[in-house]
Amino acid sequence: MCDLLDYEFGFGYIWTQIASNIGGILKRIGLLTSGGDSPGMNPTIRAVVHEAVNQEIEVYGFRRGYVGLMDDDHIKMDLRTVGGIIKQGGTILLTARCEEFKSEQGIKAALKTIEKEGIEGLIVIGGGGSLRGGLDLCESGVPVIGIPGSIDNDIYGTDMAIGVDTALNNIIGVVDKIKDTASSHERTFIIEVMGRNSGYLAISSAIATGAEAVIVPEVEYDLEIICQRLKEGYKRGKTNSLVIVAEGADTAYGIARHLKKIGQIETKITVLGHLQRGGSPTCFDRLLGSRLGKEAVEFLLKGESGKMVGTVRRETELTDLRTVTKKKREIDQTYIELAEKLSK
Ligand code: ADP
Repeated sequence: MCDLLDYEFGFGYIWTQIASNIGGILKRIGLLTSGGDSPGMNPTIRAVVHEAVNQEIEVYGFRRGYVGLMDDDHIKMDLRTVGGIIKQGGTILLTARCEEFKSEQGIKAALKTIEKEGIEGLIVIGGGGSLRGGLDLCESGVPVIGIPGSIDNDIYGTDMAIGVDTALNNIIGVVDKIKDTASSHERTFIIEVMGRNSGYLAISSAIATGAEAVIVPEVEYDLEIICQRLKEGYKRGKTNSLVIVAEGADTAYGIARHLKKIGQIETKITVLGHLQRGGSPTCFDRLLGSRLGKEAVEFLLKGESGKMVGTVRRETELTDLRTVTKKKREIDQTYIELAEKLSK
């Protein structure tokens, strides 16, 4: 763990310096956004910077996630650099996926930057992969606090990740519009939403739009039953039907082919794609990002490390990054049942 630091880069120095700061005064912290962007990252960045300024701590914002940490590409952040960003989607720090960071060389490069710039704590905003990277740095002696930023809502240790609510509102805004045209033309639409490993967006948006069926990776589905349900709906005089599918379960095109083959049901397809991630963060995401950003700085100051700050039943909760990266947040069973019960 610390051997790498001591032998390879003479990090005994920084390790001692960091250790002496724990629970005391921090002079400079690093901040990065990594992995898939999520709306609400900007309000979170703003909150980190505001709270750090309140506490007289300098913030270095590393650009493009771990790429910037390895290459020492940073911006010195102050209140001016975060002015006006609370309403902006995306992340002003830019984000990236960085395979190289996963290697020993990658970690060494990041640690070198951390030593060179005198970074005494790091805040990582991102999804499961990014938080795993934070854990690696923490195990190399860097105090790290993670903040869950992901639209999928599959991160263990928080009821909601930053960005989920905006993505859901983006989805239902579009699905409502599709429903207007679907009912005018008496059509069935298959709508594909994001969620490679998690059906949270699909299930929640299906409940919120009154979809006739939802297909997610977590629940086994039977297309014969879905066909039957759609046909019964038509018989009862329904003018339109919606089937929402999470990308991790199947593609909308795949489902459409099957419905045609099994039940001779003609469908139209919409793949929502990246519009789900874009746009101004909702009030919920701004509040969540503001709260978690401020608290991440406070926790670093208190000497906490190797943890993610989230909210569980509305209360702030710290969860060990080892647990966060090992476990997956499961969809609430009551949501699965609700979607099933209300979809007929
Ligand atoms: P997300 O954070 O949205 O889940 P990724 O899984 O793509 O997105 O991870 C983002 C970045 O986090 C990766 O490109 C890599 O730099 C870092 N990362 C991901 N997995 C690991 C890992 N197992 N160990 C170290 N770093 C990782």
